[in-house]
Amino acid sequence: MQPPASFDDRDGTIWYNGNYMPWRDAKLHVLNHGLHYASCVFEGERVYNKKIFKLNEHTERLHHSGELLGFKVPYSVAELNEVCKQVVAKNTIENGYVRPFAWRGSEMMAVSAQKTKIHVAVAAWSWPSYFSNEAKERGLKLQISKWQRPAPNTAPTASKAAGLYMICTLSKHAAEQAGYEDALMLDYRGYIAEATGANMFLVMNGELHTPTPDCFLNGITRLTVIDLAKKRGIKVVERHIKPEELAHAQEVFITGSAAEVTPIGSIEHYTFTVGPVTKQLMQDYSDLVRRP
Ligand code: PMP
Repeated sequence: MQPPASFDDRDGTIWYNGNYMPWRDAKLHVLNHGLHYASCVFEGERVYNKKIFKLNEHTERLHHSGELLGFKVPYSVAELNEVCKQVVAKNTIENGYVRPFAWRGSEMMAVSAQKTKIHVAVAAWSWPSYFSNEAKERGLKLQISKWQRPAPNTAPTASKAAGLYMICTLSKHAAEQAGYEDALMLDYRGYIAEATGANMFLVMNGELHTPTPDCFLNGITRLTVIDLAKKRGIKVVERHIKPEELAHAQEVFITGSAAEVTPIGSIEHYTFTVGPVTKQLMQDYSDLVRRP
């Protein structure tokens, strides 16, 4: 089988600073603040049957993420919503992923970057599933990362900012190299925080327990699943959860735009079943995102 084409060498259309252009032409100079100093924010959205799920929430979060990094995304939420829809249509995506992003440009190349231009681009590609179906059926194997989610006064933790992903990539690489599929990250206090790109839920005696999102993203999928659970009459408890409490969880799953609702089979020596609550919420989520 041929490896998939590198992301910079594909057919298609990318929107870049106001223009739709051929995929391979969406380039920038090596000297830019976003690359050197991580002044970059992004979104990850799913397309189901040609429609972007919760598009407006994602675009609003992109704006908010930029504000938390001290810059204004120079296109309105309405303009960017329209761009995202156009990019999906122009790339003829039925089921896939949309990646809007904004970053500081090249006018200043040191820590201070007040006068940099804010660049914005949107790409989209077909993408059926983040984890394999086989892994989803048995539940993923997670390692506990040595990296912890930083305190909210050490990083803008509510921003979907590129810089915050440095420790996610390190955690995920370490997990993969040790034979796991993903990592559970604890927070700076040692409580359960999240996976490297998704939020965590524990099923404990029929109730759904989920960490309070006070130092990591309060995911759009997380909020959606909390709603779905409440509609099913499942009690949802947001609280600080210690890793030892994993011994008392019957089921565990993660949620994210890319991950959707994905069961966890084990976190190191703690094991879980892909049980009725997880299966119900996977089904409810799958039905909701595909509702016309
Ligand atoms: N945490 C992290 C670190 C993520 O990357 C994501 C995916 N954006 C999430 C949580 C879940 O967020 P959402 O449900 O909004 O995609």
